[in-house]
Amino acid sequence: SADPSAGGAVTPMMAQYLEIKSRHPDSLLFYRMGDFYELFFEDAVQAAAALDIALTKRGKHLGEDISMCGVPAHSHEGYLAQLIRKGFRVAVCEQLEDPAEAKKRGYKAVVKRDVVRLVTPGTLTEDALLDARRHNHLAAYGEIRGEGALAWLDVSTGDFHVADCPRSGLGPMLARLAPSEVLIPETTDEDRALEGQVAETGAAATPVSRAAWDSEGARQRLERLFGVKALDAFGGFSRAQLSAMGAAIAYVELTQRGQLPLVKPPVQEPAGGAMRIDAATRRNLELTRAMSGGREGSLLSAVDRTVTAAGARLLETRISAPSTDRAEIAARLDAVQALVEDRTLAQDLRDALRQAPEMERALTRLALGRGGPRDLGAIRDALAQAGRLAERLGQEELPERLQLARQGLEGHDELQITLEDALVAEPPFLIRDGGAIAPGADEELDEARELRDKGRGVVASLQAKYAGKAGINALKIKHNNVLGYFIEVSAAHADKLLKPPHSEDFIHRQTMAGAVRFTTVELSDLEARILNAGSRALEAEKRIFEALREQVLAEAPALAAAARALAELDLSAGFAEIAVELDWTRPQIEPGRAFVIEGGRHPVVEQALRRQGESFVPNDCDLSAEGADDAPALPVWLLTGPNMAGKSTYLRQNALIAALAQAGAYVPAARARIGVVDQLFSRVGAADDLARGRSTFMVEMVETAAILNQAGPGALVILDEIGRGTATYDGLSIAWATLEHLHDANRCRTLFATHYHELTALADRLKGLRCATMAVREWQGEVIFLHEVRPGAADRSYGVQVARLAGLPPSVIDRAREVLDALEEGDRQGGGKARALVDDLPLFSAAPAPRKAPAPAAPSGVEARLGAISPDEMTPRQALDLVYELAAML
Ligand code: ADP
Repeated sequence: SADPSAGGAVTPMMAQYLEIKSRHPDSLLFYRMGDFYELFFEDAVQAAAALDIALTKRGKHLGEDISMCGVPAHSHEGYLAQLIRKGFRVAVCEQLEDPAEAKKRGYKAVVKRDVVRLVTPGTLTEDALLDARRHNHLAAYGEIRGEGALAWLDVSTGDFHVADCPRSGLGPMLARLAPSEVLIPETTDEDRALEGQVAETGAAATPVSRAAWDSEGARQRLERLFGVKALDAFGGFSRAQLSAMGAAIAYVELTQRGQLPLVKPPVQEPAGGAMRIDAATRRNLELTRAMSGGREGSLLSAVDRTVTAAGARLLETRISAPSTDRAEIAARLDAVQALVEDRTLAQDLRDALRQAPEMERALTRLALGRGGPRDLGAIRDALAQAGRLAERLGQEELPERLQLARQGLEGHDELQITLEDALVAEPPFLIRDGGAIAPGADEELDEARELRDKGRGVVASLQAKYAGKAGINALKIKHNNVLGYFIEVSAAHADKLLKPPHSEDFIHRQTMAGAVRFTTVELSDLEARILNAGSRALEAEKRIFEALREQVLAEAPALAAAARALAELDLSAGFAEIAVELDWTRPQIEPGRAFVIEGGRHPVVEQALRRQGESFVPNDCDLSAEGADDAPALPVWLLTGPNMAGKSTYLRQNALIAALAQAGAYVPAARARIGVVDQLFSRVGAADDLARGRSTFMVEMVETAAILNQAGPGALVILDEIGRGTATYDGLSIAWATLEHLHDANRCRTLFATHYHELTALADRLKGLRCATMAVREWQGEVIFLHEVRPGAADRSYGVQVARLAGLPPSVIDRAREVLDALEEGDRQGGGKARALVDDLPLFSAAPAPRKAPAPAAPSGVEARLGAISPDEMTPRQALDLVYELAAML
């Protein structure tokens, strides 16, 4: 240990520490000293602050105090988790020999130590450090000759994927995968673009040396990893794909120090295989995370009826990346339908699944040598349920996906029975805690345990045996530290044992005053065995554990298939469950670009209202092309209506229905016909998005530009109050032009909500524009939102009426009416005039200003009636009655 008086000299331990630390400058070094991991110098300062633990001092280095803090080895996982979450990387440095060994080399010799593992956000395997219900992705982005590819790996489950990915597509891909760490090629200081792009998604960007990205080296690394002569068996990979995959594997090798997890063969995702959804759309639609940042309130949490962690992870994968492949979607829906139709089967599946523990992560830990008996127990219990499920599924006529699942679940009986026989019911976490292996599993272990536990009993029975044999009732077996176990008789009886036939067994050890001590070969054997029994039992347990572990790993691919099958069943049964619970329907996924929803509901709002005992008003939507000409103009729906009428809810529900349908779920509607949506876009006007820093209007315009530039014919676009973040006429013009562009150029299925009623004037000019409005009724002085979508434009006077109800001063209401009138007049004269008319209005007139339009010579009946009222004294009800009265007079 460090010598506190060392002043300028470097102690051997400190020299060792500094050497190891110099190799890991980017990581906090957890330096093992006995029962603690210690951190020194700047590492200690940072860790103590991050963990809120005491910072102390230990000796001096080059005349300066050495800062130090430490965490107990047995509870270090919690601290690791905190540090990783705060963005640190940790190098775990262990003692590689028994300190006693080091002592043999000399009094000052330092225990051998080295780093056994780098802990980074993307390479975690411990349950304590992971969210069970989410994947933890490590992504790697490689580029070769301008072609990009993204590989992603969940080290904790071994799932490995790769896809082509141009740089422009990287943002949406990272938004979908939400990786906790992204590997990028080490770049020169000038080229920080990629790093910036990754940082924007909130993931940690880890530059990896160029050598790791070489595609030929990558090919060899992958061939070695999967034990194949050529990777072709898994598909034809581009050089960029090889580069990305190779870098990911190289990084895992580096961080795990050669211990490789069970990586499954890479699955190549075809270009366009998943619905493209960018980060802003995911945020707006709250697909997997609510605006607040948590899972609660998201679509994912609203539709999650899974009962296993692996099922929940698969659900998130599917919701994050709905498929665009009709056959795939149909196969998923077939599985759900079978379980909707056979409720008993579904319930039986769910009952069994509830008892099936996590298998994938247990397997990974076992492969990495980080697993314990509890992991074997998890596999045993999961396999027991797999067997039950396979049998249950075997009784049914099943759609393809469920049959595949059954096949994955079959054939594990032998391993299951082996584990069943070998393990205790609830195995401990660590093998060194002992007690993992069941009695009866191994003779040597049973004997060692018996000796250990019943040592006294065995001695007592030996004593009884000898007493009987020699006919000396007072014969005792005793123990002391000098002789160990010995047989003692009184001097009076000793003679008997010193003579044949007993002298053949009893060996004299010691004669005391009044007593004589003996031993036997049997007793000294027993003694040796009792003393060793504890450690022998543990050794036997370790040996058996190792054998079981090897047996399990030998079947890893089949076990991974079983795990996958369990997840798939859980997901299908979960989708069936919610479909039945909330009366959802199977969507029809068609060729072409239909989008017909009857009785659609918002999956999250519907459930929230339900919990409050209220019901959701279903609404239809039809964005299909009319007529059968070659390039039919798809209708763009323009939705108007006052705030709080339900516009946003309606818009989002249609986007969510599309996402759910293509994820393979039933949807909240009475009927749904959807032509595959390959891109989903959703934007909300900036006023709803104040929480974010930057100029929100700028953000909104950048995001809107992205839609106009990218939305193709297969897209579904949802725009909510675009242009709201700026002055009225700027906003109106932008909304106007955006709508025209979507209608004329993008020609994709579009829902556009706005409070600019002026836009409804566009309906005359744009052939495909359909106006719809949220129905509102006034009743006994209150505005009632019916939440019903109807054809037509909103009754514009309602906005002002709502304002009045809200208690705006009468002068403001009057002024608003005036502005409104001018705008209406402008509308009648053509959109372009509105601006001029508004400009002509006197600014800030508190009293009603004279009308610009010349009054007719004699007042009409309507005018006379109007002249007689005083609006400020009317109730909204009276005002409404008056409107009817006036209308009748025309
Ligand atoms: P807007 O976008 O027009 O301001 P929202 O979509 O935010 O309105 O809806 C306002 C509230 O009305 C929501 O919080 C929801 O509780 C309720 N709501 C919306 N649509 C419906 C519906 N179809 N049925 C029942 N309640 C609804």
